[in-house]
Amino acid sequence: MTTCAVKFCDNKMSLTKNISYFRFPSDPLRCKQWMEKCQTEHLLKKDATILYKNYRVCGVHFEDKMFLNPNSRNRLTMNAVPTIFSGKILFIIINIFKTK
Ligand SMILES: [Zn+2]
Repeated sequence: MTTCAVKFCDNKMSLTKNISYFRFPSDPLRCKQWMEKCQTEHLLKKDATILYKNYRVCGVHFEDKMFLNPNSRNRLTMNAVPTIFSGKILFIIINIFKTK
C-alpha cells in the first residue's frame, strides 16, 4: 500500500483519490533535500532504488508553484521540493476535498 513518507502525514493512496503521490527524486542531492524537509532522515540509509520504488510524498506538501499543472496537481516541476508541513496541510486537504 502506498502511503506518504512524511512523518506525521497519514495520507494513503487508496483513501485520497484526488491527491497525487510523488516518488523521491533519482538525483541524490535533491533526494536528500526531500528527506530533510520530510523529516525522513532515517530513510537516508536505505538504498536509493528502494526509496525510489517504495516511498512517495503526497501532493499536499507542495505549493501550487511547484506544479507544472496547478489545477490537476499531478506533475511536479524539475526542481520541486516539498515545503508545506504542519498546520498548512490540513488547510490544503480541506480545500482539495471542497472542490471535489
Ligand atoms: Zn503527505
